[in-house]
Amino acid sequence: MKYECHGHIAADGADYRLAMARHEGGASEVAVRAELAKLREHGVTYFRDGGDRVGASALAKSLAPEYGIEYRTPIFITYKRGGYGGMYGRAFDDMRGYRALVREAAELGADFVKLTASGMLDFAGDGSVMGGEMPTDELREMVRAAHGEGFAVMTHVSGADNIKRAIDAGTDSVEHGFWADEAAIRAMSDAGTIWTPTCAPVTNLLGKSDDPRFCDATLRRIWDAHSAMLRYAYGLNVALASGSDSGAYGVPHGRGTDDEYAALATLGIDPARGNAAVRERFARR
Ligand SMILES: [Zn+2]
Repeated sequence: MKYECHGHIAADGADYRLAMARHEGGASEVAVRAELAKLREHGVTYFRDGGDRVGASALAKSLAPEYGIEYRTPIFITYKRGGYGGMYGRAFDDMRGYRALVREAAELGADFVKLTASGMLDFAGDGSVMGGEMPTDELREMVRAAHGEGFAVMTHVSGADNIKRAIDAGTDSVEHGFWADEAAIRAMSDAGTIWTPTCAPVTNLLGKSDDPRFCDATLRRIWDAHSAMLRYAYGLNVALASGSDSGAYGVPHGRGTDDEYAALATLGIDPARGNAAVRERFARR
C-alpha cells in the first residue's frame, strides 16, 4: 500500500482560498474527483484526511472506493473557539459543545476525531508556534470522550511542551510535531504515540520559495531541528507515519505523498510500521 496519513482533499496544494471557493455552497464533486484522480495516478491506496469544514472529505470518503483508496476522515477538525483550526475546523466553547460536534461527526461518518493543541508555525518570521495551546486536563477530557465513542484521536500540535501535553492527555497521534525535543520524543516512545511529522510542506519549499509567507532561513532551521529529532525518534522505535499534509501550499495531492516518502528516506526512515499503525488504529471500533 502507499499511504498518505495526513492530507486535506478540500485543498489543492496551490491556492487555499481558490480551493475553498470551489466548495462554496457544498462540496464540489468535480473538485474532489479531480484530487482523487491525482492520488490514484500516484498509486496512493490509503488516505487519512485531516478534515475540512466544507464536507469535502466526507464526499471523498464516499467516492474513494471507485479510486481504489481506503479513506479515513474526522469530517472536520474539532477545536476550541479562539484556538487554531478555523481553516478546516468547527469550534466549540465547552465540553457540551465538544460532545455535540463529536456526535455530529459520527453521524456524518467520521472514523476518528481530529483536535488541535497548538497553532501553526510562523514561517514568515522566526518559525515559532503561534498560540493555540490547550491545557492538559481539557485535552485529556476531550481524548477520553472521543475514546469513549470508539474514536482514535489525531492531534495537530507543535512545540515541545504542547506535544508533551497532548501525549499526557492520551492522543493516539501527534501531527506535525515541529520543535519537538528529546523529552517529547521519549514520551512518544513510552506512550506508543504515532508521529506524523509532515516534512513535505517544509522540504518542498526549502531553497525554492520566493513567497514572502515563507522565510528560507526559517525553513532551514525548522528542517535541521526536525530531521535531528526524527532520527532520534526512529532510533527509539517511535512509530513514524508518512503524511505530507497534502493540499497544503507547495504539496499537491499524489506528488506530495511521494515527496514525503522521499524526505523520510533521506533520513534513513522507513515509515512502514508507523503507516500500518495508523491504518490499524484510525478506524472506529
Ligand atoms: Zn493538516
